Amino acid sequence: MTASLDRRKFLQALGAIAAAAPLASLDNVAHPARGGPGGERRVAVLGAGLAGLCTAYNLVRRGYDVTVLEAQERPGGRVQTVRDGLELGGHAEMGAVRIFDTNEYTLKYVEEFGLELTPYDTGTRAFHMGGRRFLAPPAGEPWPLPGLDPSEQPDPSARFPQYLESGMQKLGDVSDPGWPGSVGSASELDRTTFDGYLRSQGASSTWRDWFYAQNGRIARVNAAAGFAVESLQAGDNLSSIKGGNDRLPYAFAAALGDRVKYRSAVVRIAQDDRGVTIGYTDRTGQHQLHVDRCVCALPFAPLRRVHLDAGFSPEKLAAIQQLKYMPAARCYVQTGTRFWEHDPLGRLGGLDLVGTDTVAGRVWNTSSQQADPTAGMLHAYMFDTEALEFASHGDRREAAMRRLFGALVPGIDGQVIGGAHKAWQEDPWAGGGWGWTQPGDLRWMLPAMRRREARVHFAGEHTSRWIAWMNGALESAERVVSEVLHAEPSRHLQPA
Ligand SMILES: Cc1cc2nc3c(=O)[nH]c(=O)nc-3n(C[C@H](O)[C@H](O)[C@H](O)COP(=O)(O)OP(=O)(O)OC[C@H]3O[C@@H](n4cnc5c(N)ncnc54)[C@H](O)[C@@H]3O)c2cc1C
Repeated sequence: MTASLDRRKFLQALGAIAAAAPLASLDNVAHPARGGPGGERRVAVLGAGLAGLCTAYNLVRRGYDVTVLEAQERPGGRVQTVRDGLELGGHAEMGAVRIFDTNEYTLKYVEEFGLELTPYDTGTRAFHMGGRRFLAPPAGEPWPLPGLDPSEQPDPSARFPQYLESGMQKLGDVSDPGWPGSVGSASELDRTTFDGYLRSQGASSTWRDWFYAQNGRIARVNAAAGFAVESLQAGDNLSSIKGGNDRLPYAFAAALGDRVKYRSAVVRIAQDDRGVTIGYTDRTGQHQLHVDRCVCALPFAPLRRVHLDAGFSPEKLAAIQQLKYMPAARCYVQTGTRFWEHDPLGRLGGLDLVGTDTVAGRVWNTSSQQADPTAGMLHAYMFDTEALEFASHGDRREAAMRRLFGALVPGIDGQVIGGAHKAWQEDPWAGGGWGWTQPGDLRWMLPAMRRREARVHFAGEHTSRWIAWMNGALESAERVVSEVLHAEPSRHLQPA
């Protein structure tokens, strides 16, 4: 059993405390005859990522007249599947890769559009830490990690209850609208980083590196957000959408038809007593769209470039300015064979192929999701400083990563047949992988980010307690649709 499986089992044993938040009751909301309260029917949705698309889809079904403005020429935003540069019908996910069986909102829409899931295979993971390559030792034998505290040997995963359990329990009810501020113990978590919390529980720096080698470098993430996201990974079955995760945004987009205007970049949001005016530019010039309401599903990084003349509250403006975006990158190599199945250490396999303390972060293996049954698809998945260092290699980044792969997955020489990569901090329409807050900020920022500003409503993964997940983006969409359906006809600007 791998350490990661132990961790998932551990989280399940905790009863998936926070992931158990019930699905929003959108399905039970009555459809108004045509459009919204007081005949307010016209809604602009800004951004055709999953949050915007799902919002638009649900409003159209309820009789609203919806226009979606999207800066890029494709739907999906941070769900981006790349096929160019790959052979044998291969595909590589630049953003979202995994769907856990606890991701209720994602699974709901996968089913609604009749999409198929492909389970990831499981297998043995190798480690590359402290310059050495090794497998998890047999039970009872020490790990070759000299920095581990004696209490963390011979089984570092035996420390999960002490290092993680109290954090999970402090989360409280994440579905509470005021969370984390409304839950005393969660506010406590909010005051530190994930790394700070592990340190406070006595985890050695080597244990923490061992944890990040398997779970990504979430050291600087706010502990309340970090534990909420961990709780979402409590499921046991991992899958992705057959043919590529972008099939989900494309399914939403197909249902919306020409209501989605691509290459239409929002440059201004204004509102008054009568409605909302959106300024946007497309290939033909500058335009204005006048609507009754607007749902802003733009990440805050690009929203900072939009001229706001909408009387937003000081809290909202502060959150827009201060939300940070995590550098995140993926660098793929497609290989002619799955040579790691004959690795000198043993038969490696599964999604988490190699956990490292190098700039490559983790080496993930998405070969089981590919059309070709023999070719390989590996990638380095990097967060934070790792992603920044990767990007610092400029146009030599792919070559630099392939050299490093030689040490992480020996046998790769002569195997590479294709590749693709992306550093999200360089994408002007995202600004990074996902929104994150510094210690002490989540308690005021989360409510501020969600807060309705008169006729302007807010969705997106950053407005959910499940940052960095499709599930969070879709949950935010259902929340905001419910908000629009229940909004009073507003003849005057109203504080939320
Ligand atoms: C590296 C990485 C790994 C991930 N891994 C997973 C995973 O394994 N599983 C999972 O479930 N989730 C994962 N996620 C998270 C998931 O992809 C996101 O949470 C989700 O897709 C966010 O959706 P969104 O609609 O909130 O934002 P986005 O997808 O960013 O959508 C926002 C849209 O707004 C558009 N836009 C921006 N500015 C403007 C403007 N001025 N005018 C018009 N349009 C504009 C953008 O082009 C974009 O289409 C990952 C994300 C990343 C980056």
